[in-house]
Amino acid sequence: MPAVSFPAARTYQVRVVDAYVITPRMRRVRLAGPDLVGFTALPGQDVVVRLQTPDGPAHRRYTIRNLDPINGAFDLDIVLHGHGPGARWAAGVEPGAELEIFGPRGKVPLATAPAQVFVGDESALPAIAEMAAALPRATEIRAVIEVSDAAERQPMPPEMDVRWLIRGDREPGTADLLLPAIEELSVAGATRHFYLFAESRVVRLLRDALSARGVPLEEISAKGYWNKGRPMRG
Ligand SMILES: Cc1cc2nc3c(=O)[nH]c(=O)nc-3n(C[C@H](O)[C@H](O)[C@H](O)COP(=O)(O)OP(=O)(O)OC[C@H]3O[C@@H](n4cnc5c(N)ncnc54)[C@H](O)[C@@H]3O)c2cc1C
Repeated sequence: MPAVSFPAARTYQVRVVDAYVITPRMRRVRLAGPDLVGFTALPGQDVVVRLQTPDGPAHRRYTIRNLDPINGAFDLDIVLHGHGPGARWAAGVEPGAELEIFGPRGKVPLATAPAQVFVGDESALPAIAEMAAALPRATEIRAVIEVSDAAERQPMPPEMDVRWLIRGDREPGTADLLLPAIEELSVAGATRHFYLFAESRVVRLLRDALSARGVPLEEISAKGYWNKGRPMRG
């Protein structure tokens, strides 16, 4: 992995300028403000949204999408999973709302391997889309993405080979679908890099499965995006 310098993080005051569902369980919230003019972030980096709740502050991380540094704006695509202050905020927030964010955060740089494989659930869809779109055209890109149902699939870069896993009535945050799917992936051949972004325990199981098949840890970027049964701390 090449040495990468990440942009410095700080606090920004921003305003919600648009909010709409892009799939039945994902809402896009566009943030903008003069403070964001010139904002820089690497593909897949995120911001911490500082929410106020009746129980006190709650900080939640969401991936930066469609960054427009000239006009000072970007989108957050947020899973409406039905629990927690982040999902509640995303379901109800309307244009005009003001909030404080902190970022950019995230320390998973793009790898330079000629073949790259993204594995994750719907919380990682924004990161997978942003990172895949930023890879050189010659990169062989594959993805295995678990979503709750077929309506949650999203357009991905055309050169990317995506396998969608539909969870249906199963509960989210288990390795039941992702683990067998990555066992089927070839780990031989071209030098590859694997990104694993999903529920924290699932990510550990996926990493261990790849490792057991001989994939060196430096060829795996693993990051837990949420914790099943308990809140995520920003
Ligand atoms: C680097 C990074 C980038 C991220 N980017 C995004 C993003 O772009 N979009 C996005 O939607 N999420 C993203 N996440 C995940 C998001 O931060 C977590 O899902 C977070 O827990 C949401 O907070 P909450 O307040 O909704 O729920 P919490 O208060 O954290 O949790 C409440 C309950 O909801 C459950 N829960 C939390 N998340 C999910 C989920 N996705 N599916 C099902 N159940 C869940 C928990 O297990 C818990 O029981 C990212 C996380 C990280 C670390």
